[in-house]
Amino acid sequence: MEYAKKMRPSPRKVLCVVMYFASAAFICFITRGIYLRFDYKRVIFPAAEPLVCNRNRSVHRRPPGTESKTEISDVFIGVKTTRKYHSSRLQLILDTWYSLAPEEIYFFTDVDDSSLQEKTNGHIVNTGCGQGYAMPILCCKLSIIISMFHETGKRWLCHVDDDNYLNVPNLVNLLRQYDHNQDHYIGRESLPKPKVVVDSAIRKEVQFWFATGGAGVCYSRALISKMMIYASKENFQKTCARIGQPDDVTIGFIVESLLNRTLTKVCTLNSHLQTMADIPVGEQKKQVTFGYDLKDLRLKGVNVINMTAVVNDDPTRLKSFHCTFFRGYGNCPEIIPEPPPAN
Ligand code: UDP
Ligand code: MN
Repeated sequence: MEYAKKMRPSPRKVLCVVMYFASAAFICFITRGIYLRFDYKRVIFPAAEPLVCNRNRSVHRRPPGTESKTEISDVFIGVKTTRKYHSSRLQLILDTWYSLAPEEIYFFTDVDDSSLQEKTNGHIVNTGCGQGYAMPILCCKLSIIISMFHETGKRWLCHVDDDNYLNVPNLVNLLRQYDHNQDHYIGRESLPKPKVVVDSAIRKEVQFWFATGGAGVCYSRALISKMMIYASKENFQKTCARIGQPDDVTIGFIVESLLNRTLTKVCTLNSHLQTMADIPVGEQKKQVTFGYDLKDLRLKGVNVINMTAVVNDDPTRLKSFHCTFFRGYGNCPEIIPEPPPAN
């Protein structure tokens, strides 16, 4: 009896042994995690650009898997436009970034235009929504884009305004970082704080982040499928009316308030509030989108990419920018200066 008592380990010893095994298990678990993370980067993104800035570090990064990499053919790009911009803004897009993805880009406008229809191989959609900035008209236009995307089998929907420059390869690199089978709403936050509105269905204030339509917004197929009950062409105008807000604000309401998902804030998406003149020279070619503002005097005379206009009649400098980085794509002159050194 006395002997048995002596042989029984003291509670302190038992605690030590338990702690020892628990720490060993913990260390194994952590190192396995590091290994998986390392493996994921090496296998999935061997040639990707450095991560573009992402303000809220999405928790849904693309996991290891066997699915093919996202290519431009997996993306549907909608450009919102209107009759009065066909000969100015649309022509500028046709002269520049349209040539980087002519199969994937569709223009959503409010009239028929046979000459543009011919130039784009039938990619002009007359939404029938009417012209103007009125909330129901803009909501109607976006709902047609969403519904048309939904009928395709593509992985991603991105839409931009017609005063955006879209760097297509950078867009594909951005999307490759996310899994289209998970819910992703990717854009530039419009305001420095969440938008507060009254949801008339519950007569209560709600608040949410929303991505500004003017900087370009992307959605995964998984998310669009969930959004359809609020954002299809039959439903979106009702949802806009429910909060009395325009298209991009209503999208934020649907995603954050109704579906409880979050906006992934990406700062390489820029609207006309961030033109080339606001972006340091070495950073310009890393942006996914930027806007322009013809009233911005900084774009006149001195070129923000360190050269005079390489194309005649280039007040926005978008042709000069495009032809410098994408020779052979678009309406570029034969001889183009070397790109400026990145700094
Ligand atoms: N737009 C439209 N219908 C109109 C006016 C504008 O669809 O009657 C589109 C326009 O083509 C652009 C977007 O709405 O894609 C934003 O227009 P704009 O850049 O003129 O104004 P912003 O809101 O950026 O100041
Ligand atoms: Mn604009």
